Amino acid sequence: RPILAIETSCDETSAAVVVGRRVLSNAVASQIALHGKWGGVVPEAAARAHVEALLPTIQAGLGDAGVKLEDVAAIAVTNRPGLVGALSVGVTAAKAIAFSLEVPLIGVHHLEGHLLSVLALPDELPMPHACLIVSGGHTELVSVRGLGDYEIVGETRDDAAGEAFDKGARLLGLGYPGGFAIQEAAKAGDPKRYSLPKGLVGDTIDFSFSGLKTAVLRLVEREGDRLNVADAAASLQETIVSVLTERAMRAVRRLDSRALTLVGGVAANLALRSRLAAACEKEGVGFLTPPLSLCTDNAAMIGLAASYRLARGERNGTDLESLPTAELP
Ligand code: ATP
Ligand code: MG
Ligand code: FE
Repeated sequence: RPILAIETSCDETSAAVVVGRRVLSNAVASQIALHGKWGGVVPEAAARAHVEALLPTIQAGLGDAGVKLEDVAAIAVTNRPGLVGALSVGVTAAKAIAFSLEVPLIGVHHLEGHLLSVLALPDELPMPHACLIVSGGHTELVSVRGLGDYEIVGETRDDAAGEAFDKGARLLGLGYPGGFAIQEAAKAGDPKRYSLPKGLVGDTIDFSFSGLKTAVLRLVEREGDRLNVADAAASLQETIVSVLTERAMRAVRRLDSRALTLVGGVAANLALRSRLAAACEKEGVGFLTPPLSLCTDNAAMIGLAASYRLARGERNGTDLESLPTAELP
């Protein structure tokens, strides 16, 4: 039975239809052009843009799936964590649709959505496994023992990996959002040209990226016009990719995990995907990462997480709240 999923937690408006683990559609309206002017997400502008884009995006999601609104069996919506004004747009619409269709409503944690985006793959999901969530606001290593059974075993003590890309890109004059811009600029660059700090040292599975941002600032100040932007982008990407790979593989060994999954917006980074794939192959463990369209924010992953929760009989009432912060369930 089709689930209509809605995601409005940050700067993409998205609506998807999923049936079990099958993604029938995944419509995304991005606000990149809107926030690009300011170089970051402006919460009030984001909420207004969701109001404008939501109904057309829902229509697109249903249309692409060939599913009529009256055939929808349940509504899933991201209700936490995120920008409250932005979340509320999706949550309010989800409540209204569930109420009028008289179908179940379920609120989904945004990071559980990212974590379970790998359910779209045909592969069996080995349990337990280690998951690296790398996004605009989070960098977490999670021990996944089963659906809904998670333990965060490592995390960033300051900036997220996506923030390191975004702030680095801004300092290098590469624009917003930074991750993709760094990846493209890095293609022509020498990753060994500039040496940048990897943050924490020692046998840890935590992260620290704030020193990296400062180091890029110093580099830009020191080199001035002599700075080779492609080399700087390549060096920055190399530093982030190698830290993430080192810690993720350490977590795999510590947890005695049979597989690693890579999810979240930064999982779209091609250098990171290939480095982790190679490291997992060498280690003899499985490696799963969703297609690029399911890495950055999207409603399909919300539908996938909702699927198993609804199957377990979980539901929310019309009192479902939008929360700025929330622990992984
Ligand atoms: P969170 O999921 O933590 O709440 P978010 O939803 O804002 O944060 P996502 O949409 O999951 O974040 O991810 C956005 C981040 O992914 C941005 O920091 C962006 O720069 C980064 N990103 C996107 N594509 C790439 C890429 N190809 N390489 C590196 N980073 C990328
Ligand atoms: Mg986003
Ligand atoms: Fe996200």
